[in-house]
Amino acid sequence: MRLCSTLLLLATLAAGFTIAASRFARDTPTEAWAERQAEHNSTAYILPPAKLQQAVALSRVRRTLDLADALWTPAQLLLLLALGAAERMGRIAVGLAKGRWAQAFSFVFVLLLATHLLNLPLDVYAHRSALRYGLSVQGWGSWLGDIAKTFTLEWLIGGLLVLLLFWIIRKSPTRWWFWFWIPAALTVIAGVFVTPYAIDPMFNKFEPLAKADPALVQRLEQIVARGGLSIPPQRMFLMQASAKSTELNAYVTGFGASKRVVVWDTTIVRCTPDQIGFIFAHEMGHYALGHVVLGIALTCIALLPLLWLGYHAVRALLRRYGAAWGIPSQQDWGALVVMLLVLTTLTTLSDPIANAFSRAIEHNADVYGEEALHGIVADPQAAAREAFQTLGEDSLDDPSPHPLFECWFDTHPPLRWRAAFAEAYNPWAAGQHPKYFAH
Ligand SMILES: [Zn+2]
Repeated sequence: MRLCSTLLLLATLAAGFTIAASRFARDTPTEAWAERQAEHNSTAYILPPAKLQQAVALSRVRRTLDLADALWTPAQLLLLLALGAAERMGRIAVGLAKGRWAQAFSFVFVLLLATHLLNLPLDVYAHRSALRYGLSVQGWGSWLGDIAKTFTLEWLIGGLLVLLLFWIIRKSPTRWWFWFWIPAALTVIAGVFVTPYAIDPMFNKFEPLAKADPALVQRLEQIVARGGLSIPPQRMFLMQASAKSTELNAYVTGFGASKRVVVWDTTIVRCTPDQIGFIFAHEMGHYALGHVVLGIALTCIALLPLLWLGYHAVRALLRRYGAAWGIPSQQDWGALVVMLLVLTTLTTLSDPIANAFSRAIEHNADVYGEEALHGIVADPQAAAREAFQTLGEDSLDDPSPHPLFECWFDTHPPLRWRAAFAEAYNPWAAGQHPKYFAH
């Protein structure tokens, strides 16, 4: 019976996401025509032979890392349980202090230490590859510094959440999945709001964009105005990305009072103003089309069934393996490892649905980005296609990704397809109409 209701819930969720995705995938005739053209166009994004060779090799590295990460994350949690390490961590926390606060923070500290150490080989391999292929210029010292900062943030925020979770589990052993959902969803919302203020400046330097490039501010203001958004120049920033990375970006982040524009300094050096305009207009599209609010809402909504499934799976796992793992009850600190195991497995399994949705949204932002440039740059189609070419060359993007990996891991459609679509999409031709703008 429980299996039936679980399957029913999963099917409803999958159907909900599919209906939402198809709503976002609804095309105008102009758009549908350009999509068909894009299928047969393989020259809109091409790499010179030497870069192509690097891109294919790098793609193999990226796919290996994607796959390794998807498998290793649940595997390491399972290992911690099976080897009795999770139970020992709980005992260490209880042995160190009597108070719940100190126990929660000690337990999270030891668990984070173990998982960061277990992830270190993959992290080192990823950074070494980024250095080797010229995507990163960050020295190992600074890289380790960033890991230390991430660790501290995860410890402080994670410690508080775990303390709260176990307090709720003690108060409401059978309904905690619901009561904990409220602070979990609030944390997601607060995270998006606070990140541009408090977290981002810990990792990168920001300065007013008007100081570095007043002409670009003017151009971005024109695009913002055409999109009907209101972001004053004081909230446009230049990020010193070149201290660490060679990759390109220009985007909108935060929401409400924390909403701001960020342009990476690498972008100003290597992209033309028209290309920056497109990259920015695409990102602005995520705001203008409500993707940011929708993304936050969907994450918060999806958390509820995820926690509900987590609650049932944790109970079932503890009944079956609790004795062997030394974790008899969901109130033991070690039960957190079981919960993380269940939640990471569920999110990995739901990735193809979430990513299909993401690709539909990204395509809409491409359409929006191109349309937002009309009347501001001379040739929006060329600006978009060339932006994809520059982005692809810069990040060594494989022109022919494997469809299976694309379906499971990729949040964006393939770059070659996006470039070909941009080239073909012309809603200003006679008899055609833009999707998101009146003209
Ligand atoms: Zn996007």
